[in-house]
Amino acid sequence: MASGSDLRGVMLAAVAKAIERHADELTALDQAIGDGDHGINMKRGFEAVMADAGNLVAKPWPEFLKGVGMTLVMKVGGASGPLFGTLFLTLGKELPPEPTIDDVVKALRAAIEAVQARGKSERGQKTMLDVLIPVAEHLEAGGRDLGGIVAAAGAAAEATVPMKAIRGRASFLGDRSIGHLDPGARSSALIITAVADVLKEVA
Ligand code: ADP
Ligand code: MG
Repeated sequence: MASGSDLRGVMLAAVAKAIERHADELTALDQAIGDGDHGINMKRGFEAVMADAGNLVAKPWPEFLKGVGMTLVMKVGGASGPLFGTLFLTLGKELPPEPTIDDVVKALRAAIEAVQARGKSERGQKTMLDVLIPVAEHLEAGGRDLGGIVAAAGAAAEATVPMKAIRGRASFLGDRSIGHLDPGARSSALIITAVADVLKEVA
């Protein structure tokens, strides 16, 4: 089993790479129902995190995650910076230094609640929460198989297609937001998939 800092380093690099690889796709999704900056925003954020990776991964899980969240809040414009920043910051605040999977599940729920408070948003409004909440529920129901978690995230992202956006820029389109995948839901699924794929390797 990799040491904590190795695992943090591999996970962070995998997430940053997934975002980078899909940046054009995320931007295209945001061009359809937003202002076309989601891929750029997320890529810029994770590039800034990677620029400080050596320092961040050397810290224990709580400080590492808080550092990732702070960087995203500071470097990413738009709605997604503060929202993804809040997600990582809260995970860092909630997790003990040597977290178990049950700690992660509890911290994820707290982090989702913090995102909801910040975004004044809830499930069913065609946002990143429509991936995060179903994945949290899958975990809370005992889902531990990594392939099952990835499938739950992918299915939840796809399920945003028929939704009408109630929050974020896409809500300005009203019914015309229907029929498109939400960019933040897609990036949430990409992050969850990247983390699960790393865990598959080390498990
Ligand atoms: P902006 O909308 O400011 O251009 P981005 O394009 O980077 O920011 O991010 C858009 C994504 O952020 C949306 O696809 C959605 O998933 C998420 N989002 C926007 N507003 C909210 C909100 N109030 N609550 C939760 N998620 C939101
Ligand atoms: Mg945008």
